Amino acid sequence: MKNKNLLSIEHYAESFGTNKHKPKDYIKYLKRCVSLKETYISNNDEENAKRCLLLESILQIQHNYLKTYKLILKNKHDSAWSCIIDIENEIELIKPYIEVDFAKYKLDIVKDKNTKIQTLFPYTLFFSAGYTVGNYRCSICGEVITLRHRCNHKKGQIYNGRWCFWIKENITNFDHVAVVTNPKDKRCIPKEFNGKRFDFSVVDELVIHIKRPYLNWDLKWSKLRHPHDLFKDVKETDYCPCGSDKLYKDCCLKESGVLRPHVDFDFGQGFSDNPNIIKYHYPKSKDNVSAFKSDMQGIIMTMK
Ligand SMILES: [Zn+2]
Ligand SMILES: [Zn+2]
Repeated sequence: MKNKNLLSIEHYAESFGTNKHKPKDYIKYLKRCVSLKETYISNNDEENAKRCLLLESILQIQHNYLKTYKLILKNKHDSAWSCIIDIENEIELIKPYIEVDFAKYKLDIVKDKNTKIQTLFPYTLFFSAGYTVGNYRCSICGEVITLRHRCNHKKGQIYNGRWCFWIKENITNFDHVAVVTNPKDKRCIPKEFNGKRFDFSVVDELVIHIKRPYLNWDLKWSKLRHPHDLFKDVKETDYCPCGSDKLYKDCCLKESGVLRPHVDFDFGQGFSDNPNIIKYHYPKSKDNVSAFKSDMQGIIMTMK
């Protein structure tokens, strides 16, 4: 039996991506969802408590999707990036649950855009803290988990309206920060490198064209020769700005231009219609991804 309040939250989440959806009502429905969940938990109604918990995640994903674009427009790219990674993590968390109809809540579209927009950000290297975890503790039963002892709960599963996760305890040897390409937490990003801010012009270009939050878009990466004029500061004996390990004079200088990543954007009308209007964008700056990559790879900073 479904409660009327629960149905109203489901309807709200289903309206996402349509003109009926009111982003401002998010807090109201989220609060309703949380308080309903607590009631179900105290009544030991596991099934409905789980339904509320999953709905809570769906509402957060939808909210963060809209928030991402707002943050980029406000020039808060690092916060927008955190939002994008939160969406990714939350989607991974609820994906195993067949109860969640991805199409109904437009989560399939959100997932697709959320993956694609990441390719427009200049981050390719991340920080990863080096430390030793003494032990983990189960968030459900509170038991200590060691190599020899595990409780009966599984990480990422729902038990009476609560997610099971492992809490890290007795952290020691917090002694270094490594620069890695595949971090556990993609939110640990550098803010600048060599005193230079990252170049967000490509992601800005996309967002400027997204006039309404539910406008559909797509992108395709390829490589194109960019005019040598854009690379006037690069000496013939410098490394080629295309990112190859050859010298400029032995590489792209011999060609009509520098082979660089290029992205095509494609914009549609509605949220789920096929994109049909094509716009082009050539990355303008020479501070590209590969420059940061070759500069920073393999650096390990030791903390004192
Ligand atoms: Zn446990
Ligand atoms: Zn080259």
